[in-house]
Amino acid sequence: ASAQIGVTGLAVMGRNLARNFARNGYTVAVHNRTPRRTRDMIQEFGQEGAFVPAESPAAFVAALERPRRLLIMVKAGPATDEVIEEFAPLLAAGDMIIDGGNAHFADTRRRERALRERGIHFVGTGVSGGEEGALHGPSVMPGGSAESYAVLGPMLERISAHVDGEPCCTHIGTDGAGHFVKMVHNGIEYADMQLIAEAYHLLREVGGRTPAEIAATFRRWNEGRLDSYLIEITAEVLAHTDPGTGKPFVDIVQDAAEQKGTGRWTVQTALDLGSPVTAIAQATFARVASARTELRAAYRPLPGGVRQKLSPDEAERFTRDVEQALYASKVIAYDQGWTMIRDAAAEYGWDIDLGAVAKIWRGGCIIRAAFLDRIRAAHAANPDLVSLLAEAGFAAEITEAQPAWRAVVATAAQHGIPVPAFSAALASYDTLRSARLPAALIQGQRDFFGAHTYRRTDREGSFHTQWAEPGRPEVRTDT
Ligand code: NDP
Repeated sequence: ASAQIGVTGLAVMGRNLARNFARNGYTVAVHNRTPRRTRDMIQEFGQEGAFVPAESPAAFVAALERPRRLLIMVKAGPATDEVIEEFAPLLAAGDMIIDGGNAHFADTRRRERALRERGIHFVGTGVSGGEEGALHGPSVMPGGSAESYAVLGPMLERISAHVDGEPCCTHIGTDGAGHFVKMVHNGIEYADMQLIAEAYHLLREVGGRTPAEIAATFRRWNEGRLDSYLIEITAEVLAHTDPGTGKPFVDIVQDAAEQKGTGRWTVQTALDLGSPVTAIAQATFARVASARTELRAAYRPLPGGVRQKLSPDEAERFTRDVEQALYASKVIAYDQGWTMIRDAAAEYGWDIDLGAVAKIWRGGCIIRAAFLDRIRAAHAANPDLVSLLAEAGFAAEITEAQPAWRAVVATAAQHGIPVPAFSAALASYDTLRSARLPAALIQGQRDFFGAHTYRRTDREGSFHTQWAEPGRPEVRTDT
């Protein structure tokens, strides 16, 4: 027993994480259901560090130091349960199973509970950054017990990405907290990608810019407050020319977006928690709608907005306005993600440090951005921060951006360009800042058809109006 960690599941993610541990000086036991993959890995990368290849579960477990630390990197879903069932009987009390797959946090909660009863720590861990991140330093979001983090934390922090010398890994909270936060990361990622795509669409269709010109604009934006991995890669994609046809690459790609489902989980879960994550939801629905070929064919003949050609000066100004709209919408989308994490923490009893979440997303993951350091700082300055918009710096930026933001959404509507995420973010802003909402009328409607009762602005209690009999007094229903 010489390995400090074992990795089972040696497809791209598992193999690269195992190599990352080995490069950081750990002895790593490696195992895969199909032994061929283990042999291939050792042949190709065995010289990179200290690996202990194992072909059977028993040999794998026997190679691990106690308390055993066993990282599962298999296809998320039933395979994870099968692997747990295979290994758990071979483990002893105090051993740790880490699931680094993209599990649904509810599955992680279930597995953690079941394994806890058997004395085994189950550490559901979000891992972000794809195969490159796994190899060179991912953003790591471990859940599970504090006791397990005391042992695993230093190892996970060591292999994670680092920003300003600090690891992109922290103990998120108990049981499913890590996988929950990873899910929200992906929901935010969907929103950010959609917002950037809408900005591109506007600059092209309204601003009259070419993909190459828009790439240059994004590169410029990437030097300012929008500095992020997603803006950087978007510029590269837009600048790319299809070698076969000589056309811009974006023009030869089918416009039907796909997803693996973590955005959908975020939206489904948000509805259960009552978290208004509208920009994330619209981004998810935008992907879904893009793939609905038959609906798009039915709508295609219908009229759109009026297209006006902008003068060069107007186009310049419009580009500046789109930057403001993109930034403001991005603040709202991220704020929605944090709201959801806060709501889940309250629901599931997780003690989540909201600033630390921003901190560990500054590197290694897809939404890494300079901006996250601002979010970290805002939470560090005020641990009770309810919303980013309650922080003076963000509030000032939104105040400054909002005229341009409104102008961009209005222009998009006039031109018939869909901006579901920009619009949802702006509507969320206007909803949450309104002194009075028409929700009062909804309560009246509900009371009318279903006697669902309402609360008054001027008195305590629940009331019902006897709508069928005008003139009859309102009744108080909670006494
Ligand atoms: P895959 O999701 O493609 O899974 C393939 C691996 O799972 C193989 O090692 C396979 O073994 C094993 N496996 C599948 N079913 C079983 C089973 N019933 N019993 C035992 N082993 C099984 O691999 P990836 O490397 O892409 O991803 C691994 C995990 O990491 C997934 O949960 C994924 O969601 C997550 N993830 C992936 C990211 C990415 O960018 N790809 C990023 C972050 C997380 P065999 O060789 O025998 O078929």
